[in-house]
Amino acid sequence: MVAGNWKMNKTLQEGTALAAELKNNVKNPTCEVVIGTPFIHLATVAEMLKGTPVHVAAENCADKESGAFTGEVSAAMVRSTGAEYCIIGHSERRQYYHETNDILREKVRLALANGLKPIFCIGEVKEEREAGRQNDVVRKQLEESVFCFTAEEFAQITLAYEPVWAIGTGLTATPAQAQEMHAYIRSLVNANYNAAVADNTTILYGGSCNEKNAAELFANPDVDGGLIGGASLVADKFMAIINAR
Ligand code: PEP
Repeated sequence: MVAGNWKMNKTLQEGTALAAELKNNVKNPTCEVVIGTPFIHLATVAEMLKGTPVHVAAENCADKESGAFTGEVSAAMVRSTGAEYCIIGHSERRQYYHETNDILREKVRLALANGLKPIFCIGEVKEEREAGRQNDVVRKQLEESVFCFTAEEFAQITLAYEPVWAIGTGLTATPAQAQEMHAYIRSLVNANYNAAVADNTTILYGGSCNEKNAAELFANPDVDGGLIGGASLVADKFMAIINAR
């Protein structure tokens, strides 16, 4: 899978222009292609891309089902737009909006209950990597937010390993660092479920992945694609990354 994350970029008009470029040019991708857009773009973009190989994701959803939560958008609302995926647990949500592992588990639960496929993000900050604690951090994130689900439910979840020090910084993890962590994540899935579930789990790499380094990252056996921020905002760059998969 190659998934874009537009973050808080692009007006509705700019977003639909980018979606139109992808619609016209992404024809027979050899992987699942997803674009994560702001909430207000979802219905329009999902309608435009219906029946094409480009699938649509929200970048977040509420941790509550419905009701008096002004400004929030529920998983059911996201699904009603035609979006199929939902990015959950992005480090920017964890850092700036204080989303804890417990809150994120609830978001994953509601996404699954409403027919959305979560793209669940995990990853350590710079200080944790420097202290050699990256495995512990990632294990705790998985244990507290997603390993409570049944194997059937877990099969709907895509994991995205995004070392926080690599997001938007130009400091990409080396292919060896990515492979080492992805293999570790897959071993955890194996230990918590079984080998078949682990083999079938899609584990994306995210963090300054671009059209120049994507092929090298994706060549690793446990790197099943990428979650792409900045480079997903330009059609040619995003399409080059899709072709690198
Ligand atoms: C992201 O936000 O998920 C991301 C990976 O961003 P960037 O590619 O810009 O580092």
